[in-house]
Amino acid sequence: MILPGATLGVLGGGQLGRMFTLAAKVMGYRVVVLDPDPASPAGELADIHLKADYRDAVALLRMGDLCDAVTTEFENVPAASLDMLAKHCFVAPTPAALAVAQDRLAEKSRAREFGCDTAPFANIESADDLAPAWERIAAPALLKTRRLGYDGKGQARVGSLDELRAAYAELGGVPCLLEGFLALEREVSVVLARNQDDEIAFFPLAENQHRQGILDISIVPARVSDSIASDARRMAAGLAHGLDYVGVMAVEFFILSDGRIVFNEMAPRPHNSGHFTLDACATDQFQQQVRALCGLPLGDPRLLSPVVMVNLLGDVWQPLPDWEKLLRRPGVQLHLYGKAEARAGRKMGHYNCLAETLDAALRIALDSRAELGIGNT
Ligand code: AMP
Repeated sequence: MILPGATLGVLGGGQLGRMFTLAAKVMGYRVVVLDPDPASPAGELADIHLKADYRDAVALLRMGDLCDAVTTEFENVPAASLDMLAKHCFVAPTPAALAVAQDRLAEKSRAREFGCDTAPFANIESADDLAPAWERIAAPALLKTRRLGYDGKGQARVGSLDELRAAYAELGGVPCLLEGFLALEREVSVVLARNQDDEIAFFPLAENQHRQGILDISIVPARVSDSIASDARRMAAGLAHGLDYVGVMAVEFFILSDGRIVFNEMAPRPHNSGHFTLDACATDQFQQQVRALCGLPLGDPRLLSPVVMVNLLGDVWQPLPDWEKLLRRPGVQLHLYGKAEARAGRKMGHYNCLAETLDAALRIALDSRAELGIGNT
C-alpha cells in the first residue's frame, strides 16, 4: 500500500489529470505532473510540473525517481515511456492494457475474447482490404481509424464502396476498421475501478448523449432495466479481469432496440461520463483512481442522488457563460478546468445537476443548458 504522504505521478496535465491531482492532494499525497504545456490544467495544481515531452528520457527518469506510483490520464502514452517508468516505480495501468485501448482492433478483439458482443467489423491494413471489407460489412457502415480517434474524430459514415475508398483516402490511408452501423437505442458507460486484489467497484451506469461526436450530457442512473445494467457491469468486469487491469476504466456500450448490449470502446482512465461521481457518489472516480493506484481499499461507489452532468465546451464562451444565472439554480455544481483559451469543441468544464428525482435533475440540466445557449451553436 502506498499511503498518504507518498508522491504520485500522472502522465498528462489535462482536466482528467487536474481532477486526479485534486483528489490526491485532498488525500494528502504529493503530485508530479508530466505535460509539455506550461499552462496545463493539472500542472498549475501539482507540487511539481515537469514541462517536457512524454518521450523525454531525463524527465521520465526524474518522474520515476520522485514518484512512488504513476498513472496516466490519456491512452496514447508511448509504450516505451511507461516501460522506462516501470523500472523505477509502480505503474498502473500496465503498458499492455494501454496498448489494447490504443488500437480499436485489439480492443474489440479482446472484448470479444472476454465475453462482449461487438458490432461486426473488418480490419483494413491497406487499400487492398477495402473491397473484401465492404463485401463483409456492407452498408450502412462506419470507417474508423484504428488509432488516435476520439470524440467522433477519425471516422466517416460510408454508403458505398466508392465512398469507402474516398473516406479511407481522406483519413490518410492509415489502418482502419470498417464497422457495421447499428441502430442505437441508447449509449451507456460503466465506470469501474479494479485493484491488484481483483476487487472491483462499479459506479452506476451512465446514459450518454452526444452532440457532434462529443459527450453532451450523462443521465444517471441510466434509464435501462436492471438486467441490462447488470449484464453491462458483468461484461465490463470480464474485460477488466481479462486484461488484469488496475485503475479506473470506462467501458462504453450501445444498447440496441432488441436489448442487445454491444461493446464499443474502453478508456483506460477516468472518463468524462464519470464526472457525475464528483458530486453524486460517496466516492468519486478520481479518488477511486488514487485508491486503486495506491493499493488502498476501494471506496464506496454508491449513488447518493439522481444526477445529470452537462459538458461545457468552448463553443459557448463568446461571450462568457452567465455563471451567476447557472449558479442560482439549486442543485447545480460547477467544475471549470482552468483553461485560458476557449475553442469550439474544447472541454472547458462541466456541471452536475442534482435533484430528488431523475426527472427533476434532467429538467434543471435541459433548462440551464438552453439558457447557456448549448445546442444553438
Ligand atoms: P466512437 O469514437 O467509436 O466512440 O464513436 C463515436 C460515436 O459514434 C458513438 O458514441 C456513437 O454515437 C457513434 N457510433 C460509433 N460506432 C457506431 C456503430 N457501429 N453504429 C452506430 N453508431 C456508432
